[in-house]
Parts: sequence; structure tokens; C-alpha cells
Amino acid sequence: MSHLFPVYNRLDVELVSGEGTRVKDADGKTYLDFIAGIAVCNLGHTPEAVKKAVKDQLDKLWHVSNLFQLSVQEQAAGLLAKASGLDAVFFCNSGAEANEAAIKLAKKHTGKTKILTFKQSFHGRTFATMSATGQEKIHSGFGPLLPAFEYLPYNDVEALRDVGGDDIAGIMVEVIQGEGGVHPGTEKFLKEVENKCRELGALLIIDEVQTGIGRTGTPFAFQHYRLQPDIVTAAKGLGSGFPVGAMIGREELVSTFSPGTHGSTFGGNPLAMAAVKATLETIIEESFLKEVKEKSEAFIQSLKHKLESLALVKEVRGEGFMIGIQLAEEAKGPIGRLRENGLLTLPAGPDVIRLLPPLNVTEEELQEALAILEHCLSQQTAEAAR
Ligand SMILES: *Cc1c(COP(=O)(O)O)cnc(C)c1O
Repeated sequence: MSHLFPVYNRLDVELVSGEGTRVKDADGKTYLDFIAGIAVCNLGHTPEAVKKAVKDQLDKLWHVSNLFQLSVQEQAAGLLAKASGLDAVFFCNSGAEANEAAIKLAKKHTGKTKILTFKQSFHGRTFATMSATGQEKIHSGFGPLLPAFEYLPYNDVEALRDVGGDDIAGIMVEVIQGEGGVHPGTEKFLKEVENKCRELGALLIIDEVQTGIGRTGTPFAFQHYRLQPDIVTAAKGLGSGFPVGAMIGREELVSTFSPGTHGSTFGGNPLAMAAVKATLETIIEESFLKEVKEKSEAFIQSLKHKLESLALVKEVRGEGFMIGIQLAEEAKGPIGRLRENGLLTLPAGPDVIRLLPPLNVTEEELQEALAILEHCLSQQTAEAAR
């Protein structure tokens, strides 16, 4: 038997090497990787700048704990503060931990108890972040959940207007719901979330674990709408594959997280910080992000043009390189067909194909992926019609 708990539905494929957007499996078959470790490998596989930074750090020092000064952690925090327009960073090791820190900070800072989140959201698998997640299938078997959370319908301005009370510490929201099916929030809705926070004296917490670090063409997705969050969380793309998470907050919150209130043994360790620093120095650059924006806009237009006429495809949507292809049937079959044809994609919800290519994917690779998508989804449509 396998000695692993079977918490993942693993494919019968083992990827053994990768460079840029291309990966190779144990049988020597190569693929275009439009999963990128689930929006983690934003600079593609084994990017030189990050590899060099981690290797250099590997030769110097691996871990000292947060009992000591760490200038590489300060530098990484400075880059994140600049990229987000916020002021202070707490480093941890994953997205769930970043959200966990945000929930604790919001409660302690406001002295209030409740956190509002949204249906079909995803915020993580720890007890608090699972409770924050608005999906019953993720709660199943683990009740009773933490009582602090209530779920509102996403993109529903009316439902939000009815919310009141003096016990709400924060509202946690994804700018684009990722795991829930690649559903972008409307500008009106997101602005209303912000207004509601101001009205209630609650903190606006934006979960950018998937949408952050250049994924949508800006450093963080909230910047498309000029929102002013109190807290932003990041993780997936932050270390180019090195496990790391971050909670970033406004200056007013700094004194709430005083020594002893929160912490993490591994959080902000030098190897992770070297990866973060090199990743941000590459991605948070005007010219890099401009290219992401231009390439992705053209790609989404081509996808719409080529795919939306197929009976199988209902809609192509997304922002930057976070793209969902809404199907009229389950996504599992088409995703298998795409993989056989050399393109790795993943589902979001039951019936959406999600595309998360590296942000430095080339024009040729995008054209190649487009051709595979057109071929496979046309075939799938033809077979369904028979
Ligand atoms: C993946 C994800 C998380 C959880 O991150 P982990 O690193 O798996 O804990 C939280 N929020 C969002 C929006 C995510 O996409």
C-alpha cells in the first residue's frame, strides 16, 4: 500500500523535471504546464534568479529562528509593503497560515468576534480557515466549526447592504474566487464590501493567496479596483515554489501584534526569504507586469474567439493569467484529453477548466496551448453531439 494518507486525487503521472513552462514526466513525455503548481510557479519551473538566490543563501545559513535580526526578512517585507501599499508583514509558511494570522489580528485589533466570508470561497484547511471557507464539502465531518464565521452570497450587493451589527471584526474576500470556479468579483460588489467594512468599523481582509504576486497583471488583484484593504494575504506565487506565506497589514494594526501575540518557527526563514526577494524583484517590475497584462489580454481574446462558439463552452472569463473556461459539462473528461495532448490544466469547481500558466509564458507557448485547447474541446463537442 501507499504510506500516504490519500487526501489528494493523484494522477497517474510523475513529473520529474521542468524548465520554464515545460515539464517532463517519468516516461519522457513533455507537457506545457498551465497549472504551474496551482499558481505557485509564477516564474515557471526552476527560474535562474530564484535558484541563484536560494543557492547563495544555502551556502551561508539555513535557519536561525526569529530570535535574531534577519536583514533578508526585512528586505523581503519592504518589497511586499511597497508592492501592496501597506506597511508591515508577518511571514508564515502557507496561505492558510497567512489567513489564520489575518483572522487573529482582525479579532484582536477590533475586539470583535465575527468574520464574514462568502459562499464558494476558499481560505484554507486549518480549523479557522476551513471554518472561513464557504463550502460545505470542505466542512463535512469536521463539525462543529468555529462559530465566528458567516457566509454571504458572492457578488450580491443587496445581501451585503442588509448586513449590520457591532460584532463584526472583518470581512474576508477573494477578488476572484479561485477554487470556487474562477469567478471575478464585480467592481460594484467589491466596493460595497469595502464600504460595509468602513460602516461597521470592520477590517477589510483580502485573500490574495491565489490572485497575488502578479497573477492578474498587477502586483495584487485588489489594485485593479483601487480598493484600500486593511490586510492582504499572499502565499502561492510568493516564493516561486519555496513554501512561504505572508500577511501584510496597515500601520494602525502594527501595535496589535506585539511580541508574544503570534509567531511561527519557520516563518520568514532565510531560505524562504531569499526566494521571496528574488521572486518579487523579478515580478514587481513595471515592464514585467505590463507584458503579463498585454500577453494575457490577447490570450483571453483569442480563447473567447476560438472557444466560445463551441456548444461545450459557455464562457471564458478571468483576469491576467487566471482564466476559467466554463463548460456545459464536467471538466474532468476534457482536462484528461488536454493532458493526453500535452497541456496540463486543472479544474475549478466541477465544470470549469482553469488555466494558470507561468507569468513569463512565451507567445509561442500560448499559441501552442490555444491550438491544443481548440483541438481537444472541438473533439469533445463533436463526441457529445453524437
Ligand atoms: C490555495 C489557497 C489558500 C490556501 O493556501 P495553502 O497554502 O494551501 O494553505 C487560501 N486562499 C486561497 C484564495 C487559495 O487559493
